[in-house]
Amino acid sequence: MNKFQNIYAILHKEYGPQGWWPLTPDGETRTKHHSGNPKSEQHRFEIMLGAILTQNTAWTNVEKALEQLHKNKLVHYDKILSTKKEKLASLIRSAGYYNQKAERLAIISRFVKEHTIKGLMKKDTAALREMLLSVKGIGPETADSIVLYAFEKPSFVIDAYTKRIFSRIGICAADVDYHELQKMFMDSIRKDVDVYKEYHALIVEHAKQHCRTKPGCKNCPLGRLCMKRI
Ligand code: SF4
Repeated sequence: MNKFQNIYAILHKEYGPQGWWPLTPDGETRTKHHSGNPKSEQHRFEIMLGAILTQNTAWTNVEKALEQLHKNKLVHYDKILSTKKEKLASLIRSAGYYNQKAERLAIISRFVKEHTIKGLMKKDTAALREMLLSVKGIGPETADSIVLYAFEKPSFVIDAYTKRIFSRIGICAADVDYHELQKMFMDSIRKDVDVYKEYHALIVEHAKQHCRTKPGCKNCPLGRLCMKRI
């Protein structure tokens, strides 16, 4: 077992399955963790919206914004496109950068209207990722989150938590390039959508529970592997 596989096994044993991405059950307005896989086009679109709304903010703030969108029956690209930008911005205020994010929700809505969820589902992983990266406001982390969680295709998500934990352990530099670390993961673990989904969610959980800005190394399950253990 290599280091990446070992860390996955340890985190999975410690925290259990995370069941990402949190989704809103049909007929409700609040997202739920352990929601399982997207089961409808609306679920896939909701994940796309969440991936944009979560840029530079915590998920708890995104939940409130998504709840407002659901209450106003706006979790559909046509509905978003027919809503005034000011209204959209006020509904997603909790997610921060709300004017910029309202514009980005409109841009992704136009993208989905043009290409359709069904059409995007048919693309292979690399083509879908490239298409998303060409959309204004979508960088590698947002694109990979959408590819992996909304379209269930194998593209590993790297975020600030991943860089923090894996650099502290001693596997990469703190300022490692996104694609370099992504390649390290994808070369080292089984190419499996469910494993990719779980692994990223477990990394986020570990960053919250132990490997915070000021790390709580006491009782850390990765302590014996870690170079930075305090
Ligand atoms: S031992 Fe400390 S620095 Fe290392 S992974 Fe655990 S919490 Fe982070």
